[in-house]
Amino acid sequence: MTDETAPPSDCQQALENLYLFLDHELPERSWDDIHAHIADCAPCLTAFDVERIVKELVARSCREKAPDVLRAKVVTSIRTSIVVRTTDPGTDA
Ligand SMILES: [Zn+2]
Repeated sequence: MTDETAPPSDCQQALENLYLFLDHELPERSWDDIHAHIADCAPCLTAFDVERIVKELVARSCREKAPDVLRAKVVTSIRTSIVVRTTDPGTDA
């Protein structure tokens, strides 16, 4: 019995923690666990890169504080695309 594919719940948890970490709601050391998963998981790595880019763009255009509405919209669209990707079988048999 081998574990060739990571359970989706791992990705879900990793991304949840990622968002919390980016919001400074998780301690710095939690990053080790998050990064350990992301470094080995392409979908999560993609999501992380997108999130980081968005954060930088928002930080640049509004240095004071990111509008919650904009942020929520972006995060929702990212999550939607992740769900679509992970649930898409990718093959038509
Ligand atoms: Zn993952």
